Amino acid sequence: MRTPILATNLLLLSMVLSLTGCDKPSLDVAPNLTSIGQATPVTAHVHDPHGVSKVAVTLTQNGTQYPSWQTSSPSKSVDSTFNFNVGIKTTPQLHDGPARLIVEATSGGLFHSTTRWEREVNVVTQPPTISADSDQHYLYLGMADLATMNVSGSYTSAGVRVGNQTFRAWPMPGGKPGLFSLFAFAWNMPPGTTPLAYASNAAGNDVTTPLTVVFPKKEQPVYTQHEILVSDQFMQKVLGELDPNGTGDPIKRFVKINSEMRQANNKTLADLRLKTADRFLWHLPFTRQSHSQAEATFADVRSYIYQGKKIDQQVHLGYDLAVTQHIGVEASNDGRVVWAAPLGIYGNCIVVDHGYGLQTIYGHLSRIDVHEGDMVKRSQIMGLSGMTGMAGGDHIHFAMQLDGVQIDPKEWWDAHWIQDHVVRRVDLPNFSK
Ligand SMILES: [Zn+2]
Repeated sequence: MRTPILATNLLLLSMVLSLTGCDKPSLDVAPNLTSIGQATPVTAHVHDPHGVSKVAVTLTQNGTQYPSWQTSSPSKSVDSTFNFNVGIKTTPQLHDGPARLIVEATSGGLFHSTTRWEREVNVVTQPPTISADSDQHYLYLGMADLATMNVSGSYTSAGVRVGNQTFRAWPMPGGKPGLFSLFAFAWNMPPGTTPLAYASNAAGNDVTTPLTVVFPKKEQPVYTQHEILVSDQFMQKVLGELDPNGTGDPIKRFVKINSEMRQANNKTLADLRLKTADRFLWHLPFTRQSHSQAEATFADVRSYIYQGKKIDQQVHLGYDLAVTQHIGVEASNDGRVVWAAPLGIYGNCIVVDHGYGLQTIYGHLSRIDVHEGDMVKRSQIMGLSGMTGMAGGDHIHFAMQLDGVQIDPKEWWDAHWIQDHVVRRVDLPNFSK
């Protein structure tokens, strides 16, 4: 009979303890820190039914403890968030190398139970340094270029930043010193934006240096306005294919597909940037679909007209290449298939990666004959053209993207441009025109 009494007592005891606040607070620390620098931001979330009497942050290095931060007053809230910085600014005694970050949260309950969180971190006192090439980079809306740079010190990412867009840097091919980055000046980037070479480390240090750029005002591409007349037949085709179970106003449904689905599909395409090879998979200029007529070009601004009224406007970020119905779709260059499946407005779609963030896109196919992961050769037939997705007639929607930013493919069809902008600056093995 002793056991049940003991169990009852234990239950009572635990009830009393939880009422008085013996339970430890729960503590989450974000982000998942690996390094700290000058003043690295940290957030601690504490959950405790009795509130928080104290949060204390300590750094230890080589056996010495450095109190780094502490709450100034208790909090009665069940859930509390504390933001603070740790690093050299508040603890100047730190030096480069491993340290331990300790966060302790003490309950506001009677017993002041304390939860301790700790982690090994790397102290990085110095930001990286960066220098970029001194080339004059001619920038054109919707086009690409290549910059080289040298980064020293500890860094976790580097590349070129244009406005809010980031293009990764890669180690120079052929074992040469330095880094290079293929970057784009997006079709809608404000013309005064200066691309910056950047390097940053996990401690939150970030350094930049501007690229030397020329923006020839007169020679900029002019993106032209076009009208797309939406017939009832086209609208029904699009709705039937892309919103088969939808109900309600057909115009609203069409516009939703054209805007929201387009945006989501472009996001899916952009995310394929992470599926790229860290080498050039190609050594010849890109090719344009044989014998094709361009029915639309890059960054055409399209007004969608239905029954005489404008219902939508979108920008067309590719070339519509038409030959004849069900023509074999040619790979523009050697590469690896990273997408071979339906993709909303693009219909049956193939994306081929060519390395270093450069990818080609083929939309509206009637048939796909490759699989994700396949290596393809330049001009290899990958499927048949068609009019799946938002297409009113049989054609190939051909587009290109660089680190997820869609660009005008025409430079990549031009052997001289590749020679001047890519081959002159990095080793592109066996490149021939
Ligand atoms: Zn198109």
